[in-house]
Amino acid sequence: MTEYRLPDHLREAQHHINGRPAASTGSATIPVLDPATGGQIATVPAGTTTDLDAAADAAHEAFRSGVWAGLSGRERSRVLIRVAELFREHAEEMAQVESLDVGKPISLARAVDVNTAADTYEYAASLAQHLDGAVRRVPLPAHAYTQREPLGVVAAITPFNFPLILSTSKIAMALAAGNTVVHKPAEDTPLSALFTAGLLSQAGVPDGVYNVVTGYGTDLGDHLTAHPKVSKVAFTGSTQTGAHVAAVAGQALRPVTAELGGNAANIIFADADLAQAVETSISAFVFNTGQFCMGGPRLLVERGVYDQVLEALAGAVPHVPFGDPKDPGTVIGPLANRRQLEKVTAAVEQAKASGARVVTGGEPAEINGGFFYRPTVLADVANSADAVQQEVFGPVLTVQPFDTEQEAIELANSTDYGLASGIQTGNISRAHRVADALDAGIIWVNAWGMLDPAMPFGGVKASGWGRENGPEQLEAYTRTKSVIIALEPAPDQGTSSSTDTADSAKDHS
Ligand code: NAD
Repeated sequence: MTEYRLPDHLREAQHHINGRPAASTGSATIPVLDPATGGQIATVPAGTTTDLDAAADAAHEAFRSGVWAGLSGRERSRVLIRVAELFREHAEEMAQVESLDVGKPISLARAVDVNTAADTYEYAASLAQHLDGAVRRVPLPAHAYTQREPLGVVAAITPFNFPLILSTSKIAMALAAGNTVVHKPAEDTPLSALFTAGLLSQAGVPDGVYNVVTGYGTDLGDHLTAHPKVSKVAFTGSTQTGAHVAAVAGQALRPVTAELGGNAANIIFADADLAQAVETSISAFVFNTGQFCMGGPRLLVERGVYDQVLEALAGAVPHVPFGDPKDPGTVIGPLANRRQLEKVTAAVEQAKASGARVVTGGEPAEINGGFFYRPTVLADVANSADAVQQEVFGPVLTVQPFDTEQEAIELANSTDYGLASGIQTGNISRAHRVADALDAGIIWVNAWGMLDPAMPFGGVKASGWGRENGPEQLEAYTRTKSVIIALEPAPDQGTSSSTDTADSAKDHS
């Protein structure tokens, strides 16, 4: 295997402001580590609020000048299609950057991350041509219609686990609507944002339309969220940070979409195809090494097949390829950072202490100094255990039995989160009934993790609000303006009509 080497501009990276690399006004930097070894692979600026001001100024000026918002939807669409083409042309290098930065198995980065990002640009490009309003037939002496307009500068704040996909899902839609963007990627995984910034410029996105400032959220977050030149905040991250961001945005009267934590339940009913259900349940909790907000870390199994499912998990999970993310056969890699490794270790220890039985795994793995945690299945876990109630965000599956459909629904809905859920059943009526009763933004039946840019996702309860993907997302990146144009009365209606008009307007005011 030939080692991939990061290009120089990423190894000693700068911000991307006004269409070009920009040095920080400060001297502090953030080391970017390879999660598979713990070794340093790059350095990015620990940006300052002055850097953010420069990015917000560039984005604001690009918006105000009309260089992007002033294009027709079709013209913007063509540029976004070109972005998707460039992503596909650079797919292998983008996959390598994402794999190295996140510790993501290279096969996953190739098959999912880059393709999804390109698909998302293509889908957003189609919506850019449908920023339609509506004519309203109102009982006024007027022609009345609505039109949708971009908001201005969007602040995009993204997490460490799917840096490319989750940045793209905001940026593509923000740009489709004619907005400009200041993006602060996660401090641990900033490289794909800096890599793609160059591709956006190459595709014809004008200078200042997309800007990246790297740095710590704790240093930059409030300044960006409340920045007077920002018109909307698009946040994805933990529930705790999201609540803070929403409070700061609320104080600044700034609309915010908040895609937050998840802790989904996956329910296996005894009438399911059990072999298929077990396979689906494994991929639901190991996908992206368990660092998937819509992953399925809580397995609920009907008691009649509980032992059978545990036995199947015990047999299969230790054989899921685990180790070096650069190996194309690897399915489970390291966690993305040391903080995450410590969090997963603590959650499993707490579960064990509260009586959970380790079916497989249950400990970190010493591999090349990387942040590895063995894929873990915990049985007989109390519903009150942190591993069930809190988001662990690692390759850890808790398994609990249930006796009735109603009990399964109650257990599934018993955490603060509500991002996703899964139902494995052979009974279509049950599938509809249970899907209806689950408190979650997306439900999979006899499947897990199927997503498409046309299908919205997002949370309920502590998983946040707002939706990404689909036309629903475009709504959140535009505002509606109503235009009401008084109509002159027909000449043969005489002079009394002006009074009628005034009366009619009063009636409807
Ligand atoms: P995090 O909340 O720690 O950080 C997310 C982003 O917020 C980072 O860029 C960080 O620098 C920034 N940030 C930190 N403090 C801030 C502040 N005070 N103001 C503004 N920004 C601030 O989350 P994380 O650990 O990077 O990501 C994992 C979390 O993200 C998990 O909870 C996961 O479920 C969630 N997530 C949700 C979705 C979704 O679509 N709902 C998708 C992926 C990840």
